[in-house]
Amino acid sequence: ESVFVDVDLAAPVAVFQLTADCKADPFERKINLGVGAYRTNDALPWILPVVKSVEAQMAIDPSLNHEYLPILGLPDFCESATELCLGKDSPALVENRASGVQSLSGTGALRLAAEFLARFYNKRESCNPVYVSDPTWGNQMAVFRNAGFSDIRKYKYWNADNCRLDLEGMTQDLRNAPQYSIVIFHACAHNPTGVDPSQEEWKVLAEICKERSLFPVFDCAYQGFASGDPDVDAWAIRYFVNCHFELLVCQSFAKSFGLYNERAGNLTLVLHDSTALSRCRSQIELIIRAMYSNPPNHGARIVATTLKNPAFRQEWLDNLRTMADRIRSMRQILHNKLREMGTPGNWDHIINQNGMFSYTGLNPAEVEYLIKTKHIYLMSSGRINMCGLTTSNMDYFVSSVDEAVR
Ligand code: PLP
Repeated sequence: ESVFVDVDLAAPVAVFQLTADCKADPFERKINLGVGAYRTNDALPWILPVVKSVEAQMAIDPSLNHEYLPILGLPDFCESATELCLGKDSPALVENRASGVQSLSGTGALRLAAEFLARFYNKRESCNPVYVSDPTWGNQMAVFRNAGFSDIRKYKYWNADNCRLDLEGMTQDLRNAPQYSIVIFHACAHNPTGVDPSQEEWKVLAEICKERSLFPVFDCAYQGFASGDPDVDAWAIRYFVNCHFELLVCQSFAKSFGLYNERAGNLTLVLHDSTALSRCRSQIELIIRAMYSNPPNHGARIVATTLKNPAFRQEWLDNLRTMADRIRSMRQILHNKLREMGTPGNWDHIINQNGMFSYTGLNPAEVEYLIKTKHIYLMSSGRINMCGLTTSNMDYFVSSVDEAVR
């Protein structure tokens, strides 16, 4: 008998289970709208052309090898990632009080942020509350909980009545947050709702964070996916930096470079002074050393090479726009077709939402109908990945949704 016989079987991770169920389904016209990854109009993964070119160049570069990277990561990568979210001319960079640390993709950046804050953000006697949006990408909560935060709270975000941002509820919850609480924001292309605050709304949020001395952490996993332009999508982060906040940004290059399994991410620290920054970096170095010693090279090298070379960078911006444009055109087609069919309900949120995901407003019973009867796989929350839709499967999806809601 094993010493572990009493270990309970954990529930499977819903989104991976959904993909496995879809894979096992022999139905020819099945659709996977669960997975959080880009798909081409042929419903296939896409290796960005710029990534292919850079990899080809790397393969024959005699100066590269498989030596360890520094504990804090590949310096060129951290520098270009930090510049990408803050902007090259950011006052925080000019004043030498911001820098990046390589992480195991976006999740790893959140984990480092959580671990660092748990140890060194001690503004309250008891554990700091951590606020996440309701709903949010569920792993944010799990990561912060695993780092020792026991008081995780939700701020209102989604208004189910009109499928929009619940600004009133959100601002009320944040105004009531205890001083020095940590607040996680999605920098853009909110997962799962696809709803982002407008620039005017971000200004209100920044004001509340100032009033209540809240500590902002930006989860930035989809830079470029909302507008097609990474500078536009970094607006909120840069606005907060310009308002002189100290903050953290957790960046993922999984989506924006299509490097899902390479685990290329970056944790950017923006502080008020450069001495504090050096000290914090030295502590993060110790955290990393004891967690996984040092990060992987391949993805970070691709991102750094691309962003540092003007021709590759331009090609990447074009590739990014291709992805964002395809998503937007799927939104438009879906919206048009639902309206043409006269499907009950107002579907305007489909075109007003941003980025890879859409909160459709479909209820759990409708979702179950789509999965069980139509072989269309989506999250029970009604979240769909817009990239799972193509010009070939759109009609089947629309008629199925129409049946589900009637
Ligand atoms: N943050 C959000 C909001 C996400 O949706 C994701 C991925 O789905 C991540 C972070 C982290 O992704 P990864 O660890 O693959 O970079």
